[in-house]
Amino acid sequence: MKVQTGTRLDQAWTFVTNDKPDNWGQLQGVIFWILLATWTYSNIIVRSWRHVRAKGIVGTFRGMYKAVEGFAIKLILSLPSSKRKLNQEMGDLRTKFRKSIDPAHYPNGVKLRSGRELPKHGRSLEWLQEEWRGLKGIEKTDVDEGKVSGTVYHGGEDVNQVISEAMSQFLLANPLHSSVFPAIRKMESEIVSMCLSLFNHPDGAGTTTSGGTESILMAVKTYRDWAKATKGITHPEMIVPESAHAAFWKAAHYLGIKIHSIPVNKKSRKADVAWMGRAINPNTIMIVGSAPNFPDGAIDPIPALARLAKRHNIGLHVDSCLGSFIMPFLDRAGFGEEVEPFDFRNEGVTSMSCDIHKYAFCPKGASVIMYRSAELRRYQYFIMADWAGGLYPSPSMAGSRPGMILAGAWAVMNYIGTDGYTESCRQIVSAARHLKSAIQTRFASDLYVLGDPLASVVAFGSHKLSIYALADMMTERGWHLNALANPPAVHMAFTLPTSKTVDRLLDDLEYCVAQLKKEPKGSSGDMVALYGIGQTSVGPHVVEELAKTYIDVLYE
Ligand SMILES: *Cc1c(COP(=O)(O)O)cnc(C)c1O
Repeated sequence: MKVQTGTRLDQAWTFVTNDKPDNWGQLQGVIFWILLATWTYSNIIVRSWRHVRAKGIVGTFRGMYKAVEGFAIKLILSLPSSKRKLNQEMGDLRTKFRKSIDPAHYPNGVKLRSGRELPKHGRSLEWLQEEWRGLKGIEKTDVDEGKVSGTVYHGGEDVNQVISEAMSQFLLANPLHSSVFPAIRKMESEIVSMCLSLFNHPDGAGTTTSGGTESILMAVKTYRDWAKATKGITHPEMIVPESAHAAFWKAAHYLGIKIHSIPVNKKSRKADVAWMGRAINPNTIMIVGSAPNFPDGAIDPIPALARLAKRHNIGLHVDSCLGSFIMPFLDRAGFGEEVEPFDFRNEGVTSMSCDIHKYAFCPKGASVIMYRSAELRRYQYFIMADWAGGLYPSPSMAGSRPGMILAGAWAVMNYIGTDGYTESCRQIVSAARHLKSAIQTRFASDLYVLGDPLASVVAFGSHKLSIYALADMMTERGWHLNALANPPAVHMAFTLPTSKTVDRLLDDLEYCVAQLKKEPKGSSGDMVALYGIGQTSVGPHVVEELAKTYIDVLYE
């Protein structure tokens, strides 16, 4: 027998067939291709099957059509002639955006000195004070007036005074260095504990973050790393109702996770639990529910989602960023009747986010991410043990953090307390309920409410009128409503200032509806323009370009 060379498979083949290396060479090729094809096809079949289960047959075809259409539109838009047209339109819009921030258009002839370079010599405090007066003069909206949806989570003049005093006491504190700033560490851990008990899980664990987006990013990262460590998942996927906050798509984008967006129930506007269940597959790391969601304020069926998550041993993040200090106080304020348990009372809820810079009236840049267990929280951490700069442990995205924000938040939460938040919840939700019932009665023939909102947000649309035109007319009257897409609608997120102006809102609505009925296409305002483009077939592509241009201009 001659000395055998080649791979072990070669050797085995030669041994079995008594030396027919030629045939073996061919067969090896065939086996290779069969294996590759089987693997590829089974992979394609598994993935297609999962896709069809998640999207349904109609949804799958619609998705395929959209993908082809999107490709074709991109192709058309890349033709030289359309490119020229698009560039010209973008140029026009850029000019329009620029104009809107142009000093020549500052109100009341305010003049501001421009400072593109660091001044050579320091300015005086008096100089700054004068500039501040000017800068205040260009703010177009009086935020205390109560005409802005959401945005201004004003707790009252006394609360603002507490914030500025608290912050000035801890101006330089940085929780990154907890040994230098033990006071901030104590306050931060108390903020987290207070939230955990409000959401009915004092034994849980959490951290503070810079806002709702960071809380959501952290939760998604935690589940990604948890699923990898405990289940070996390397191609993670998450399932969200389409009404979830954009931050979940941002997290998927940043963290390399496939996201399935599942349509909500058209009538109730709540997550479709059965449909979400069909989208679960072995790569699923988490599902999401909102309490309530941003677009129309619906509270997803958290108990059912929790059962689903528990059955599949995956995470359920309940986004109560907007729910903030409204949701935990609904019961105490007398609005709890129709509200299902939305928090850690459901065993399957494994994490929650609560923006204390919204309805807890804390300074901006403060949110809390909470987990069912300290063990789960550990997947959020980033530790570098062998860094040249020494051991580097960090709980969340940021390195250095503004301790004064936490000092402000801690002070506000202590200052307002349970009775204070119960009262603010009562005022805010009363206003929302008032708007809801007025639209359902006074405006029943022209407007309709989306779903059955129970918290602070009320969204409405119209089967007859252009809702964006209506919103533009309201803008002319000083109101800032939020525009929503799919279906076209607007919403009002009530706050303390707007809770006092709901009757004025209704009067102005009545006036605008009447005007719009007389002159149906009477508006060419921004919302009509922007969402008008959005609804055309080239819309999404153009709007994306437009948004990028807009951000560019902000930094000019
Ligand atoms: C505001 C909000 C967020 C994120 O908040 P930021 O603080 O703006 O990052 C997340 N989810 C919902 C439902 C929200 O309303």
